[in-house]
Amino acid sequence: MAELGLISDGAVLVAEGKIVAAGTRADVLRAAESGHDAIVEHDCGGRLVTPGLVDSHTHMVFTAPRLDDYERRLAGKTYAEIAAAGGGIQTSLTGVRAASDAELTAAIQSRLNAARRLGSTTVEVKSGYGLSPEAERKSLRAAAAAARATGIDAPLTYLGAHIVPPGVARAAYVAEVCTELAKGLGADVAPEFADVFCDTAGFTLAESRRILEAARARGLKLKLHAEQFAHSGGCALGVELGAVSVDHLDAVDARDVQLLAASETVATLIPGANMFLGQPYPDARRLIAAGVAVALATDFNPGTCPIQSLPLVMSLACSGMRMSPAEAWTAVTINGAAALDRAAVCGSLMPGKRADLVIFDADDYRAVPYYAGSNLCRAVVHHGEYATY
Ligand SMILES: [Zn+2]
Repeated sequence: MAELGLISDGAVLVAEGKIVAAGTRADVLRAAESGHDAIVEHDCGGRLVTPGLVDSHTHMVFTAPRLDDYERRLAGKTYAEIAAAGGGIQTSLTGVRAASDAELTAAIQSRLNAARRLGSTTVEVKSGYGLSPEAERKSLRAAAAAARATGIDAPLTYLGAHIVPPGVARAAYVAEVCTELAKGLGADVAPEFADVFCDTAGFTLAESRRILEAARARGLKLKLHAEQFAHSGGCALGVELGAVSVDHLDAVDARDVQLLAASETVATLIPGANMFLGQPYPDARRLIAAGVAVALATDFNPGTCPIQSLPLVMSLACSGMRMSPAEAWTAVTINGAAALDRAAVCGSLMPGKRADLVIFDADDYRAVPYYAGSNLCRAVVHHGEYATY
């Protein structure tokens, strides 16, 4: 993770949305001479050019921010007190269920555009604030429509198993989620991944297994929210079932670390949520030392992490978890891509990959996590199209 393959005086040749050549300027100019006419040149002025950032974990299908909850929590109110006052996840459920497809699409679209202005060119989007068959389908439809409208590669994840919705019997809800998965969720939505919140606040290990096996039987790839607040066994379950990623991992044990290191499953850390909730950070150094592939994601959501900026998440990973700047870069590019089963598509500047690049107002890769909270993103090349914001 510490090897970035930095190139000084570099260049990238792009055609038809794909990278044709990347390397030193001399090498790329040589490649450009052979068979490519009408080349448009963008001089980046010696700035840092990186792969487009990959945010592999967001919950951006919601209507309104939860500002009342934020203020209540800072005033010392507990999760239960906030829920009793009409806040918490119920607020987001009510909002999503009442929203039209067009309203939800517009909200997601503006969030995807905001993410791209911060350098993210691939952004996973989870459902999970509908928690009824129709509201979950609506969430996924809206996310797909927003992705089409923005042109952003936004892999969709079905998170019907976020929590058991209030007023619904637990066993009945688990059965409903499994039935929805067995039906393929309906013809109008086609998520690529299924995710489960395996936690005391979400679903038990046995329930998580049942739901994930139903998802796998329909050909969905798997993700898990695992070991966030307590050790639940979700990490080991994810590895066993071949999940593409297990996310959060605040409470992993020695066996989990061994299992991850010996697997293809990516360990996705979410330091933004730890910072926002004022909780200790996961032990990134232990995972990296064991040879685990670590990704970083925002977990952008209205309750526990309203951060959309992967550069800020990199700053938190460096200062809070002692990741090196190079490791943080790997974690938001190629490892983020691997956490979305897209390591062959994006996440590095290699011939044949999608031409997603970010041009930063910096001449050193370490400046991006260093200037914590600044947006140094000057321009984005997305599917080969150059745009400044
Ligand atoms: Zn999450």
